[in-house]
Amino acid sequence: MEENDFTHYDEAVQEAVDLANRLADNNPEADLWDIADGILAGVVHYWLYTRQPCGDPACGDCDSISTPEERLKELLRITEELARGSEYFHSSYDLNVGRA
Ligand SMILES: [Zn+2]
Repeated sequence: MEENDFTHYDEAVQEAVDLANRLADNNPEADLWDIADGILAGVVHYWLYTRQPCGDPACGDCDSISTPEERLKELLRITEELARGSEYFHSSYDLNVGRA
């Protein structure tokens, strides 16, 4: 991954969080889950838009996204990796957290 790509990745992450916070600030009555679900829907839509195979059956870059099911598998793999890496993945209120 080139340094330039990394910058765009970080910028996209920050802009998505900023958008969510702006929507929440501008709509104090809004359900935060609705805002988050809407952002997620837009992100999934955009991600799939960018992962359309190029049409060359021999293209190695498109191996992991060559069918709808392959794209979904890749999307879920990345999503799980991001979720498990998030500081919000675990909560002290999780039911499986032991209490002393
Ligand atoms: Zn391709």
